Amino acid sequence: MWHPYAPLPAALPPLPVLSASGVRLELADGAQLIDGMSSWWCAIHGYRHPALDEAIQRQLRDVAHVMFGGLTHEPGVRLAQRLIELTPAPLSKVFFADSGSVAVEVAVKMCLQAQMGAGHGSRSRLLTVRGGYHGDTFGAMALCDPVNGMHHIFDGILRSHVFAPRPPDGFDAPLDEEWAGGVQALLTRHSEELAGVILEPIVQGAGGMRFHSPACVRLMRQLCDEHGLLLILDEIATGFGRTGALFACEHAGVSPDIMCLGKALTGGYLTLAATLCTTAVAEAISVGQAKALMHGPTFMGNPLACAVALASIEQLTEVGDSWREQVARIEAGLREGLERAWDVNGVRDVRVLGAIGVIELEHEVEIAAATAAAVRRGVWLRPFRNLIYTMPAYVMNEEDLASVAAAAVEAARASAQLS
Ligand SMILES: *Cc1c(COP(=O)(O)O)cnc(C)c1O
Repeated sequence: MWHPYAPLPAALPPLPVLSASGVRLELADGAQLIDGMSSWWCAIHGYRHPALDEAIQRQLRDVAHVMFGGLTHEPGVRLAQRLIELTPAPLSKVFFADSGSVAVEVAVKMCLQAQMGAGHGSRSRLLTVRGGYHGDTFGAMALCDPVNGMHHIFDGILRSHVFAPRPPDGFDAPLDEEWAGGVQALLTRHSEELAGVILEPIVQGAGGMRFHSPACVRLMRQLCDEHGLLLILDEIATGFGRTGALFACEHAGVSPDIMCLGKALTGGYLTLAATLCTTAVAEAISVGQAKALMHGPTFMGNPLACAVALASIEQLTEVGDSWREQVARIEAGLREGLERAWDVNGVRDVRVLGAIGVIELEHEVEIAAATAAAVRRGVWLRPFRNLIYTMPAYVMNEEDLASVAAAAVEAARASAQLS
């Protein structure tokens, strides 16, 4: 059996999880680990949350799944309405996909079909920035960073898109005029063949855990408007409060034509993603040659997933916006706890934004040693490349957060000793 991004047989045996509750994983040997990863950034309310458990159980009494072709159901309708309310105007249409990568495929399809509908069928490429990650399916892979991604393996098979340089580092940085000029020139040169721009706003996740300025997002919006391109924002990692704004594009005061959501959408319970678009995009698609958006996954709009997503959103937004305080508290805790990483040899950068804490090393992380060091401190971390990072559940308390941060520093130290 394969595990993610792994050979067979596996290089490292995976840890068997028996159960999980709150922010803790319980292993088969009885050990408990504080989860610093929240299951790849999804389990924002922690595990076995009573309200989320209850939402699934209640839905199970009605129906677990029905096809979405020709049929509809209340959890799907209510979730679509809720997403439209939460996301910035003018996003007003929703397509449910079954994973983040598929949501990106759908976004690209929407973009191309909308351009066809508007009579611009020759616009068939996208512009994106280096350092991005948009998923593992072929369409999405072609938009990932061409060096760190899988382009070299599938050279000649992936669609060729236009890559601008990575946005300069720093959430607080002013707009880098040189970068902006370069992007503008590149986009102008290709504008006749471009259908849209796709970007992870503010935070590049699996491509390198880097933060950039809202000004970069604003520039992309402006260039898209000037050249008749559609802006796709991939908020699969950043959506639902992770960066300190409900959606990262809010930092920039910008809204996209198409937005992808996933990961934390169901609070980490079930696989579900959504692609939202504006009425203008939906209308252009519907008058186009196909007269329909040509996508329809078998498990589209799964009622259990929709029901638990509604419960997760309710938790997020109950009593005002409780997530805001939670994420601000996590941000403060990570800043304090990760500060000590600066004392470790071989640490290149330590950065925190919202509920995201990153230690970047000058060398590749010694994964086995780093993971073991964290586990000895009772914490689960999953470093990659030269990055040791945490994206804790928003509900994590101060004490557990301090343990996670200390374990991340320890993991950096263990890695440094070996390299
Ligand atoms: C995780 C992620 C994806 C892919 O989502 P999957 O559910 O793993 O297919 C796409 N874009 C971004 C920004 C992500 O973080």
